[in-house]
Amino acid sequence: MSDVRNVIIIGSGPAGYTAALYTARASLKPLVFEGAVTAGGALMNTTDVENFPGFQDGIMGPELMDNMRAQAERFGAELIPDDVVSVDLSGDVKTVTDTAGTVHRAKAVIVTTGSQHRKLGLPNEDALSGRGVSWCATCDGFFFKDQDIAVVGGGDTAMEEATFLSRFARSVTIVHRRDSLRASKAMQERAFADPKIKFAWDSEVATVHGDQKLSSLTLRNTKTGETSELPVTGLFIAVGHDPRTELFKGQLDLDDEGYLKVEAPSTRTNLKGVFGAGDVVDHTYRQAITAAGTGCSAALDAERFLAALS
Ligand code: FAD
Repeated sequence: MSDVRNVIIIGSGPAGYTAALYTARASLKPLVFEGAVTAGGALMNTTDVENFPGFQDGIMGPELMDNMRAQAERFGAELIPDDVVSVDLSGDVKTVTDTAGTVHRAKAVIVTTGSQHRKLGLPNEDALSGRGVSWCATCDGFFFKDQDIAVVGGGDTAMEEATFLSRFARSVTIVHRRDSLRASKAMQERAFADPKIKFAWDSEVATVHGDQKLSSLTLRNTKTGETSELPVTGLFIAVGHDPRTELFKGQLDLDDEGYLKVEAPSTRTNLKGVFGAGDVVDHTYRQAITAAGTGCSAALDAERFLAALS
């Protein structure tokens, strides 16, 4: 079993690189699949990160991730910018196959594949990400003090984002494609009672306008087709997330929304030697620091699992 590694980490966001750093410093020589397109994870798509502790003046998302990567590499993590396309996690030796068809074997696997926020699918949406368009009120709300902003969505997340954002913003318009909300009664009532929150019912965002920064939205009425302009400098998209767990279906236990189930507060999954961390597990907090924190926990859980084998 000389070609069997101690640990393979799938995913390279804050959770994956932190797990890599800890397992590398424990001399476990981790192999990390970083992903072919989005090595570095979700923060590669943003600008200022002001809430990751240790950076008094903030840091750009890609720079933070480059630092995490370099730190893991410095202690011997082996990093491969490729996707894992299939896994077999059931036995004592787990197999992980890359896009070239090469099979890698390990005694432990840490899953940190993150989750993908759903997009509206509009042309300017990605270009203005971090420039007015956001998927995270906790991360970016602070940048919108005294500004007019919009939140798209009708569920609990949208209501929570809107009520949180109303602390900072001058006004928050909730844009929802129907004439009633999906959110729980309590969340709805909080939003209805908030004097800064307005509703654009039966409406969807048709166009996102702005050159370097978001300047306005064109809304389309879903019943009449009529359009109207909404001048806003912030757009928070809260229409859901899809955890990246396709690879693990049928092997690892997933919850109703497709998130990886772990035996919290540990990171153990239903399979021995397989651990999960970061946003692929977490529907609640979804922050870089919480992902890094659970990445650390997964590394320590994997270390203890491996130590018990020998
Ligand atoms: P991710 O960062 O999503 O990383 C997952 C990784 O897994 C990716 O690299 C992906 O390529 C890889 N992967 C997936 N499938 C495979 C596969 N099959 N094979 C190999 N690799 C795979 N949080 C903050 O705390 N502060 C902020 O200011 C902030 N701003 C944000 C701005 C934006 C635009 C977004 C989208 C998120 C922001 N967040 C912020 C949230 C934060 O980015 C996430 O909570 C965090 O990145 C989650 O880390 P993770 O390691 O779990 O997953």
